[in-house]
Amino acid sequence: MKSVYIHIPFCTNICSYCDFSKIFYNNKIVNEYLKVLEKEIDNNYKNELINTIYIGGGTPSSLNYEELETLFKIIKKFKLSDNYEFTIECNPENTDENKVKLFSKYGVNRVSIGVQSFNDKYLKILERKHTKKDVYNLVKCLKNNDIYNINIDLIFGINDQEIKDIKEDLDNFTMLDIPHISYYSLILEPNTKLYIDEYKEISDDECADMYEYICNYLKDKNYIHYEISNFSKKGYESKHNLTYWNNEEYYGFGLGAHGFINNVRYENTRSFTKYLKGNYRLNEFNMTESSNIENEVILSFRKLKGINKAEFEKKYNFNIYDKFNFKNLIKNDLIRDDGKNLYINSKYIFISNEILVKVLESSSEYVI
Ligand code: SF4
Repeated sequence: MKSVYIHIPFCTNICSYCDFSKIFYNNKIVNEYLKVLEKEIDNNYKNELINTIYIGGGTPSSLNYEELETLFKIIKKFKLSDNYEFTIECNPENTDENKVKLFSKYGVNRVSIGVQSFNDKYLKILERKHTKKDVYNLVKCLKNNDIYNINIDLIFGINDQEIKDIKEDLDNFTMLDIPHISYYSLILEPNTKLYIDEYKEISDDECADMYEYICNYLKDKNYIHYEISNFSKKGYESKHNLTYWNNEEYYGFGLGAHGFINNVRYENTRSFTKYLKGNYRLNEFNMTESSNIENEVILSFRKLKGINKAEFEKKYNFNIYDKFNFKNLIKNDLIRDDGKNLYINSKYIFISNEILVKVLESSSEYVI
């Protein structure tokens, strides 16, 4: 059973912090893009049973009704399992009731909404085009059309944001009564408007305080913290994203998409011209056992549950302690072993990258 990621690179607005593969929406290019995307799928998909589909972007909801219907007809080629999860990313300002009805018609059962903040001041800094009211209306509309499995993305660490602003965003989220939230810290990537404008970042300490506040707030509301930036009600973890964090294989289709199929990790070109000519791939890597293990460790430790030792041993035929030395990390309570799982102490999950460096250093086989 596999997963499928499909990238729709069009946006009707470019946000000040965005580093994704995207271009301005243009109706002529969309049609061309969908044709080439269909060919890429036809050339690669081997008719396996698919457990999760995720349409991400860009902004998939920037496509008009007809274009979305064309996309969904292409997606109908995938043979879906009984318990499939089918997610589409949407922006509140361009998702109307007609589109939502189309989602339902074609089997979408999970929607992820790019919200980032409910506060006009921060929406303006991020150059987002929706209002709080748009978010509320969209969630209501999704529920009216029987889509309850909803995520919103929020961002913290914006300029002079304070804990009280974070609380306000979390209060708004709670009022929506939806089962999933992804909460990311603002990262200033080169080539983004905020970076070029030399936007002032908040300090690491302030960021860590906000993160701690978010984790505690959501825990009090019975959300399970299951990955560094992801929280859900029981049973509403993102199945698709767990595919990545469990180091399982998935197809990636579309501009700039990544995939992992038949032990090959690949990345598609971010050049629109090349993609439209059918030169899909930028690179491909045959994974060795040690690079798979390295990925398994890095990705699994993103999850609060960490690594299941028995499953690891079954997959790689050795005990994880034979190759990694966790002694000091466990002694310093950075990593814990509960007998079944090895995981990063949740107190330190915010600095998991630093811990991962130490984990990989503990094995001479992995170069970092
Ligand atoms: S953040 Fe999303 S909506 Fe904004 S420019 Fe990037 S891909 Fe488009």
